[in-house]
Amino acid sequence: MSSIFTKIINREIPAVIVYEDDLCISFRDIDPKAPQHILLVPKKEIKSLAEATENDAPLLGHLLIKAGEIARDQGFSDSGYRVVINTNKEGGQAVYHIHLHILGGRQMEWPPG
Ligand code: 5GP
Repeated sequence: MSSIFTKIINREIPAVIVYEDDLCISFRDIDPKAPQHILLVPKKEIKSLAEATENDAPLLGHLLIKAGEIARDQGFSDSGYRVVINTNKEGGQAVYHIHLHILGGRQMEWPPG
């Protein structure tokens, strides 16, 4: 069964898309935890970081570089932001299609909750 994010990739459900290329798609989180909360999702359905393999290294590198570009394009790179990959249950993962959260627009706290 395809993930909710694959449904967004396939335009089966709507999203506010901010970036897309052959490998990934980026859109605004439906329930933002910061003034800027953007998700970046590979089109390949890797369930979580725990299931990524060495073969996925170029794709994961691509996502990190695009996360930086998206933060720049959206205007919150200089002020700062956080990139998060929630992984499995105790990591707080709800959608089992690997994704980066790009969070910005406010001061982030450390340690995270
Ligand atoms: P996770 O907890 O798996 O790291 O994050 C999943 C994220 O996906 C959550 O922040 C949640 O708000 C977001 N999300 C879940 N369903 C949808 C959806 O249908 N559309 C969008 N834009 N975001 C979603």
